[in-house]
Amino acid sequence: MTAQPNSTEARDMAYHLHSYTNPRKLEREGPLIIDRGEGIHVFDNSGKRYIEGMAGLWSVAVGFGEKRLVEAARRQMDKLPYYHTFSQKAHGPVVDLAEKLIGMAPVPMSKVYFANSGSEANDSAIKLVWYRSNALGRPEKKKIISRIKGYHGVTALSASLTGLPNNHRSFDLPLANILHTTCPHYRTGAEPGQDELAFSRCCAEELEALILEEGPETIAAFIGEPVMGAGGVIVPPEGYWAAIQDVLRKYDILLIADEVICGFGRTGNMFGSETFGMRPDIMTLSKQLSSSYQPIAALMINDSVYEPIANEADRIGALGHGFTASGHPVAAAVSLENLAIIEEKDLVGNVRRLAPHFLGRLNALERHPLAVEARGIGLIGALELEAADGAAAGATGARVGAILQRNGLICRNIGDSIAFCPPMIITAAEIDEMFDIVEASLGELGQQAA
Ligand code: PLP
Repeated sequence: MTAQPNSTEARDMAYHLHSYTNPRKLEREGPLIIDRGEGIHVFDNSGKRYIEGMAGLWSVAVGFGEKRLVEAARRQMDKLPYYHTFSQKAHGPVVDLAEKLIGMAPVPMSKVYFANSGSEANDSAIKLVWYRSNALGRPEKKKIISRIKGYHGVTALSASLTGLPNNHRSFDLPLANILHTTCPHYRTGAEPGQDELAFSRCCAEELEALILEEGPETIAAFIGEPVMGAGGVIVPPEGYWAAIQDVLRKYDILLIADEVICGFGRTGNMFGSETFGMRPDIMTLSKQLSSSYQPIAALMINDSVYEPIANEADRIGALGHGFTASGHPVAAAVSLENLAIIEEKDLVGNVRRLAPHFLGRLNALERHPLAVEARGIGLIGALELEAADGAAAGATGARVGAILQRNGLICRNIGDSIAFCPPMIITAAEIDEMFDIVEASLGELGQQAA
């Protein structure tokens, strides 16, 4: 791409190392500069409008341009733009948000710890689990089990939890003591003729075999997303979480529910844990907590986690953990207002009401000759395509992603799967508009292939 000298595009290419981007491809093709947003739409710097089919990064629940959040941030900026939560300090918004989250928790929770990103929340969760094991006099109980294709972030510890090769390759990860068990993807994992329940039992047996091989006394916690997001939107098969939790209970292993995507309505209940009958000891939250208008994350811990940690910190003198911006007042104020909007507009109800239409349009895409599988729940889904004409893995997904973007729909291609996760304020007509673009774009792909 030859960008105009001194344009935003040219300066981006000159100075900015992007997340999850091939830098050489960026140098060749240039960036897409997003300028503003409104409702389910964003606009680039030439004024072109796109449906944000991914709600940004699975996160802008209330849509773009929500003035109540702007106003909440402005009010808090005016009053107290920053304060910390170290050394027994607090402020109104962080206390209000902690109380609100404990009140919303689907299972009894005791305390909320605040961080700035999902990665930090998961990182903190694992550190607290280790701290607890030491507090309980079980220093050998440190291993964490995650899942192949699970996504838990990118800090050294949370990237280790993530079960995707790209997050490990050339980073010298995963760290020691992080193990990965079976991905519960029914279509690719089940034996021929095996039903979902039997496949779920098989996943639980494989987990149990790993625990026995490693020594149950060495395993501290299991972490999982209720629905796997960045691994390709993998909805667990029937009976999966019940079978997994039976095994965890048998060996006294904590359950961490990574609700960073599922939390606050995405699956049709306030939390994915409710949708799947999970009873976590720790829940990590981010994204739709503030609709990503401010960076914030939280983790909730129950009493069995909190009490030993409090005792250990008391013995040592203080809990040696904290971020400068933990519980940032502006982020907390924005989150409170965002949760109020989710409740007042009944956006969780909106997800439940629209899910049959969303999933109906998604499932209809399975008729396309290149479609392998449509999967989803609530307002999150993916269409997996087969590699066209012997194309390399991921190339077809990337091609479709580019066609969709040209046609005014931003989605996420994960390998050869296209993910959909629109803002929860979307309407039935907007869902139709979104899938009409997908159908037309798949048609173009067919023409290109012919
Ligand atoms: N956990 C899940 C389930 C996620 O989807 C993500 C991000 O996509 C994270 C954790 C990491 O969050 P962040 O990117 O805020 O560090």
